[in-house]
Amino acid sequence: MREGLIIKGYGGFYFIKSGEETWCCRGRGRLRREQSPLPGDRVFFTPLEQGEGVIESIQPRKNSLPRPPIANVDQVILLVSLAGPEPDLKLLDRSLVLCELKGLGVLICFNKVDLVDSEQGKELDKIYRSAGYQTILTSALYGTGLQNLRQVLAGKVSVLSGPSGAGKSTLLNALDPKFSLATGEISRKSKRGKHTTRYVELLPVGEGFVADTPGFSSLELPPMKRAELSRCFPEIYQFAGQCRFYDCVHINEPDCEVKNALEKGVISSTRYQDYQQFLEEVINKERIY
Ligand code: GDP
Ligand code: ZN
Repeated sequence: MREGLIIKGYGGFYFIKSGEETWCCRGRGRLRREQSPLPGDRVFFTPLEQGEGVIESIQPRKNSLPRPPIANVDQVILLVSLAGPEPDLKLLDRSLVLCELKGLGVLICFNKVDLVDSEQGKELDKIYRSAGYQTILTSALYGTGLQNLRQVLAGKVSVLSGPSGAGKSTLLNALDPKFSLATGEISRKSKRGKHTTRYVELLPVGEGFVADTPGFSSLELPPMKRAELSRCFPEIYQFAGQCRFYDCVHINEPDCEVKNALEKGVISSTRYQDYQQFLEEVINKERIY
């Protein structure tokens, strides 16, 4: 038996990367009944003839995402364009909360640095760095920051997520022109189709793999406790333990260390505003569920 990584599933076939080779496998019947294999799964398979094989077993998963269907995600890279389209920080903050809830490693890639003056990019970058996130600034068009991106992709399974037009395909093509993914306005229409019909594929970059996906399919926050939300904002959570009330939600309570940090400018006001808005959503859901 050999060991490998599923990089793509297609019509009952699974493409497995094992060392430098790629094998086309089916799953044993037993497997299909118990747990269907996903891209990102580490599997044992029996080689047959001509690059074909049979998957015998799936190794335990550390996590899995339903959409895109992918297993063992090490990190999510949220791609945000600094211009064209303008960055949607509310969407970014919401995506960050969803990653935190799932316990996924996350980092932010600000793309299209060539379209803004450097101060503009740095300002946004600083907000998220001081919130506790790792960030990268790139220009997929000019190749800026690609080395940094390669470094964070090394040896990991990453999901590249971001709104349409942020530059996902252009960035992946810049990492490896062999991917030749469709980019740009002309293909916009067919790409919409692409994202609904296409299969998830893990693309090899260096010693790592990256899957490009549309943004999170549902951006609605799931039902959760109020305190859980503050855990999803690292810069808020670090002060939450020092508030006077143990159940402080950092809105109107006295002696709130989060509000103090906000007033001192240690916590960014746009991040705090999004926290406030999401908290309202969480509280509204508490009434329904
Ligand atoms: P996707 O929908 O996220 O895959 O975005 P695309 O890769 O298709 O890119 C959308 C548009 O933005 C295309 O016209 C790209 O040429 C352009 N684009 C992507 N990255 C950059 C960049 O770093 N700088 C500039 N100026 N344009 C970019
Ligand atoms: Zn507080």
